[in-house]
Amino acid sequence: MADVVQRRRMIAEGNAPDAIKQVEQAKLTALLGVCETTQCRRKAILAHFGEIYPSNCGNCDTCRSPVASWDGTEAAIKALACAYRTGQRFGAGHLIDVLMGKPTEKVTRFSHDQQAVFGAGKDMDVRSWQSVYRQLAALGLLQVDHNAHGALTLGEGARAVFKREQPVILRKDRPRKAAEVRRQLAGAVELPEPIMSIFNALRAERLRIARQQGVPPYVVFQDATLRALAQSRPQTRDELLSIPGIGQAKLERYGNAFLAVLAEQPVAD
Ligand SMILES: [Zn+2]
Repeated sequence: MADVVQRRRMIAEGNAPDAIKQVEQAKLTALLGVCETTQCRRKAILAHFGEIYPSNCGNCDTCRSPVASWDGTEAAIKALACAYRTGQRFGAGHLIDVLMGKPTEKVTRFSHDQQAVFGAGKDMDVRSWQSVYRQLAALGLLQVDHNAHGALTLGEGARAVFKREQPVILRKDRPRKAAEVRRQLAGAVELPEPIMSIFNALRAERLRIARQQGVPPYVVFQDATLRALAQSRPQTRDELLSIPGIGQAKLERYGNAFLAVLAEQPVAD
């Protein structure tokens, strides 16, 4: 989730024209939907590309160990109805405003506060609706129109959902504690001191470079590479090359910056 938030911000703050940014955001939303699906992942990915896979693959993680889920049929009907009643011209943000009964400028300008769906989703919170919309997009029940500002339009199966012929089973969001999220951000592995503080210094440098270059941090170095750097503390460019994840290109690009950070670290013992 943290990666998604960061990627969204990078897209938003990037130099690309707005039209490209909207396509990038919509693609990210669809990817997130695939992550959240309770269904066979192969099915979800093919649905995104407009293909219908007839059965479950039996090989992906959700096929092999099914996730906690809830009957989201009624929520799906509301979410789909909201897209339909507002003309299939809006993205999830606006649709959620309508469902939550928020009289924003946009909502009143389009008279969406006059629709029956206005305020019909107050029984759930914004996060839950975001999850519903993302998952509906992953299921192909909504299509993201990349050419129309990421507007959500009804997909092929939406009709059967409206008629209650097709139940919609959604993945249950697992609330997570902040500490758990932080640990995951730190690479999910506890390192002993002082290696942990070296690792953190390397992460800070990675973030600084990533921001400067407008790329996600993992493009600079993966966590595993930072961990290896923190543990073996190379001092020369040749030694850097022996670290997994560092080849000639990365050595040229980032080698000196990371050697400088390592040189600043206090010597152990
Ligand atoms: Zn599968």
